[in-house]
Amino acid sequence: MKQSVKLVVGNWKMHGLSGALDQASSLSRALVIDAGAIRVGLCPPATLIDRMRGVLKGGPVELGGQDCHAQPQGAFTGSVSAEMLADAGARLVILGHSERRTAFGETDRDVAEKVEAAVAAGLEPIVCVGESLAQRERGDAVAIVTAQVAASLPDSLTERPFAVAYEPIWAIGTGLTPTLEQIAEMHAAIRSAVVERLGQGAGRAPILYGGSVKPDNARAILSTPEVGGALVGGASLQAEDFLAVIRAA
Ligand code: PGA
Repeated sequence: MKQSVKLVVGNWKMHGLSGALDQASSLSRALVIDAGAIRVGLCPPATLIDRMRGVLKGGPVELGGQDCHAQPQGAFTGSVSAEMLADAGARLVILGHSERRTAFGETDRDVAEKVEAAVAAGLEPIVCVGESLAQRERGDAVAIVTAQVAASLPDSLTERPFAVAYEPIWAIGTGLTPTLEQIAEMHAAIRSAVVERLGQGAGRAPILYGGSVKPDNARAILSTPEVGGALVGGASLQAEDFLAVIRAA
């Protein structure tokens, strides 16, 4: 089945004070992309989205959030809703990142509710899944990840744009990556799980790889079968590194 264009997204996590807007601006100035072949996203801390919109205006970089609340508004101190992200200028939102699943106890069900909220707000969710090292060593990685896919994707995604990001927890921020064979095997399993869950219409959703994507491994990873893009943490913080990853796609 024909895949959609590759999607490369930077996840700044809790990095980036306003000085970091210079990085976004250099990225945007240096980025010349073939819109039919690649999309580029940046997900800074929520406080920077609106200002980054000002810096990037008219450029090709799409903005995104890193999480959202499942409700549009209400008495949820400290939270930001999908509608608020969209209002600030986001088009994308990362949901179910393993750092949220682990540090904030988010379950697949929580993630599915947030995905619903994101879709209702017109955002394109990037739904993260991935196994721990212990789960991989036990031989459970594919079963765990495909179960996460099935439980984290709500019905409302049918016919809506979204992406899945496969991020092995043990590869995030460690410099370790799975072999290309392991990535290909997992991405094929995720593709089948997405189609089984949402039907053939969802078969074009890009499946991104994330976890220690760097300029020197990006080309090999991004040309692996079924890899529809990358979710990039550390290497997205410097415009030069992120550009090198984007060029590899
Ligand atoms: P990393 O992070 O590229 O720094 O490993 C990826 C992520 O957590 O999305």
